[in-house]
Amino acid sequence: MKSLAVLHVSQLVTLAGPTRPRVGTEMAELAIIRDGGMLICGDQIESIGPSGEIEEKSQNAEIVDAGGRVVLPGFVDAHTHLVFAGNRLEDFERRARGESYEQISKAGGGIRSTVEKTRAASERDLLPQAEKHADWFLRCGTTTIEAKSGYGLTLEDELKILCVMRSLKQQSPLEIVPTFLGAHAVPRGMDADEYIELVIDQMLPRVAGEQLAEFCDVFCERGYFDIAQSRKILTAGRKLGLNVRIHADQLNNSGGAKLAAEFKATTADHLEKTDEHGIAAMKSARVQPVLLPGSVYAIGSSDYPRAREMIEAGLAVVIATDFNPGSSPTPSMPMILSLACTQMKMSPAEGITAATINAAYSLNRGNRIGSLETGKLANFSIFDCEDFREIAYWFGIPPLHSVYAKGERVVGA
Ligand SMILES: [Zn+2]
Repeated sequence: MKSLAVLHVSQLVTLAGPTRPRVGTEMAELAIIRDGGMLICGDQIESIGPSGEIEEKSQNAEIVDAGGRVVLPGFVDAHTHLVFAGNRLEDFERRARGESYEQISKAGGGIRSTVEKTRAASERDLLPQAEKHADWFLRCGTTTIEAKSGYGLTLEDELKILCVMRSLKQQSPLEIVPTFLGAHAVPRGMDADEYIELVIDQMLPRVAGEQLAEFCDVFCERGYFDIAQSRKILTAGRKLGLNVRIHADQLNNSGGAKLAAEFKATTADHLEKTDEHGIAAMKSARVQPVLLPGSVYAIGSSDYPRAREMIEAGLAVVIATDFNPGSSPTPSMPMILSLACTQMKMSPAEGITAATINAAYSLNRGNRIGSLETGKLANFSIFDCEDFREIAYWFGIPPLHSVYAKGERVVGA
C-alpha cells in the first residue's frame, strides 16, 4: 500500500477530541500539534504526532514537506445547492441597482428562473457544470459537501438532478452527500397542496427506493411551505428512512427552528430570524444549527444569525457556504470563515470547528472525516501560512498550497 509522510507542519490542526460534535468552549479547542507530521497509508491516517517522530516511522513513505505551513482537515460544507443550470447574473445586476426581491421575481428572476433553465437541461448538460463547481470546492480546501436537489420541481427533473450527483460522485474526488429538496418552492401552475401530494406520493418513494438521497429537506418559510405543510413532507420522508434537515427562519421567525426540534432534525439551516425560544428548542432536541453568512452578505443584508448566543447556549454550530446561483454564489469556505469572524463574531478557531468536525457530524460522518486522527480518512489541505488564523484573516483569496482527498493529491503542484 502506498504511504505518504507529511512533515514539518508549523501548525497541524487536528481537531482531535471527543467522538461527538463540539459545543461551548470546546469549539475553540483545535488540538494543534506544532511542528507536526502525519503518516498516511492508503486512504487513511496511520499515525500523527511531532514531525520528528513521524519521520522515524516513514522509511518507505513518499515525503511531503509542508515547509512550515499549516495543515487542516478538509472542510466539510454541510449546505450547498450544487446542481443547477446557468447563473443569475441578471438578478445580481438588478439587486446592485437597488431592486427588491419582489421586483426581481416579477421581472422573471429568482429561483423559478433557475428551475426553468435546469428543467431544460439534460443530465449530460448538467454534469460538466456540476463538475466545474466540484472543482471549485476542492480548490477552496473542501473535500466533502452536502448537495441538495430542488431546481427541478417535477418527478423526472428532481431525479435527474440527484442522478447528476450520483454520476459526479463516481468521477470526482469530492465526496457528495445527497439531500432531496423537492419542497424548495411551489412550481408555477400548481397550488401548494397539489404539489405537496406530488412530493409525498411520487417523488419521495422513488428517491428513497433508488437510494438517491440520505436526507429530506424542506424550505419552511412564509410563501413557500408553512409549518403544517413542512411537517407533512418531513413525516413522509422520515417514514421512508431519510434523515431530516430544514431551511428554517431565514426571512421570518415562523417557527422553523421549533419544527426542527419537534422532528429531532439533524440540522436547522439559516436561522437568521431565530430568537432565544428557537435556540432553546434546538438545544433540548440536539439539533445542529447550520449558519450561512454568505447568503446574508451576497444579498446585501446585515441580518446575520445569532451565532454567539447559539454557541453560548451549547449548540454544536456548523457554518456552510449555501452555494447557489441566487443568494450565495460562493464555494469558498475561507470566505465563510471571514464572514463568521467579522460579521457573526465567532473566533477563527470556532469557525474552523464549525466548518470541519461539527459539519462532519451533521452529515453523520463524524467517525470518518472532520478531524485528523488515526483511522480517519486522509482528507486535508496545506495552507500557505504559518498560523491557522490567517485563513480567516486574508479574505478574498483562499491561501491554499495543496489539497488531499483519501491520501491522493487533488489540488496543487
Ligand atoms: Zn439552501
